[in-house]
Parts: sequence; C-alpha cells; structure tokens
Amino acid sequence: MESLQTSDPRTVKGRIHSLDTFGTVDGPGIRFVLFMQGCALQCMYCHNPDSWDPSAGKPMTVEQVLEEVEPYLTYYQGSGGGITVTGGEPSLQPHFVAKLFHEVHKRWKLHTALDSSGFNEPESIADLLNEADLILLDLKQINREKHIKLTGQPNDRILKFAQWLSDHGKKMWIRHVLVPEINDAYEDLLGLGQFIGTLKGVEKVEILPYHRMGVYKWEQMGKIYPLEGIRTPTDKEVERAQRIIELGRTGNIG
Ligand code: SF4
Repeated sequence: MESLQTSDPRTVKGRIHSLDTFGTVDGPGIRFVLFMQGCALQCMYCHNPDSWDPSAGKPMTVEQVLEEVEPYLTYYQGSGGGITVTGGEPSLQPHFVAKLFHEVHKRWKLHTALDSSGFNEPESIADLLNEADLILLDLKQINREKHIKLTGQPNDRILKFAQWLSDHGKKMWIRHVLVPEINDAYEDLLGLGQFIGTLKGVEKVEILPYHRMGVYKWEQMGKIYPLEGIRTPTDKEVERAQRIIELGRTGNIG
C-alpha cells in the first residue's frame, strides 16, 4: 500500500456511486457528500441498494473529486461545513478515502467526516480513521440476532469498531435509523443507550426516522422490498426512542 504522503491524487482511484454538492444532514454545516460504491451489509431499509455491488459505480481519481469540491468551497468554509464520505460503505475503499481526506486537509483545512456502518477491522483502516475529524457511526440494532435479520450480518465487529473509536479518542455522532416493529422494542433501545453510555467521544445521538424513499430502487432492480407494510415512525415514536436511549445512556429520564 502506498503511503498517504507519497501517493499521487491523480492516480488513486475509487468507485463512486454519486455525489451531492449541498448536503445539510450528514455532519455540521453545508457539506460536499460523496457516496462510495460497495457495501458488506444488506439492510432491509437500505435506500441505496444500487450501491451494494462493489464492481458497479463510476471510477474517479482523488483529483477528479477535488475538482468537484473546489467550486463550492466558500459555502463549505463559510458554514463550518466540509466533506462527508458515505455509501455504500466508504471504509471498503480505505486508501482512496484517506487520500481524499488528506488532500482536503492539506489544501483547504476543510473538516472531514466518515459515515460508516462500522463493519470493518479498525486496525486495518487506521490511516483512514486518523484522517477523519468526525465519524458518523450507524448503530442499527443492539440485539445480535435481530441485527442479523435486519442487515444479514452480526453486530460484533460493529460494536468492536465503536469501542476502538472510543479508545482512540475519536469524535463520534451515533446514528440510529428507527424502524417500527424492527428496532423500536423498549429493551433494544435501552440496551443501545447503555452501550452508547460506555463510549467516550460521543458528541451527538441522532434518531433518523425510517423512510420509504428508496423503495422504487428495489423495484427497479427486481428485488422484493423486505419492509413492505412497515410505516414511517411518528414524531411521538421518535421522541419515545430518544427518551429510552437517553435513559439507557445516562440513567436519567431526559
Ligand atoms: S450499511 Fe448503508 S448502504 Fe449498506 S446496506 Fe445498510 S443502509 Fe445500505
């Protein structure tokens, strides 16, 4: 593996799903959001199933991505924003994303955020994690068996990933997509809060209400949508989940 310092941004390539030059929900301020191709999970609620195949997407060099960022720099800098790399799962292309973050820091001192499912060995992507100013970590279900049902994989590696971030002083925003009947049971939300309560560096816990905006992609791909009949949670249900997670996290009713 080439080093971050010596590798050439004109030759380091990644496979890109899509990009958004004006993101406002994936980290602080206005952000350039890059969606990477490829994911190791298959979440039932995924709104980007077309990002799963690691051989699909469009190859781009780090330099080509930087050319897309550059015209909007004043928005990102003026709003306290930056660049967020998400997916798919961005840590599956660690050298590309680490090099991108490295160049963004070097050229513009811009804030970098990695939005990850945490399904990777942290030791093997330490360069990438060290270049990220903030990790947006998706914790989907604390119950191991239910996690397998929801994502196709157990959550052991993800919880270990979170522990590594905590032990290495990384700043985290924890994100939890709330899906009625799937991950809104009292004991699961309480357990999730209790686990978050053991972590250092957690600046924020965000509940993201499940939505059905990606259903058409499943249909276009000829896949059966596994959450047919499941609705978006109400504001009250989101507030309830927030209260229970907070209770688990702090021992206090918020
Ligand atoms: S981790 Fe994200 S991209 Fe991957 S399947 Fe789950 S929701 Fe989709």
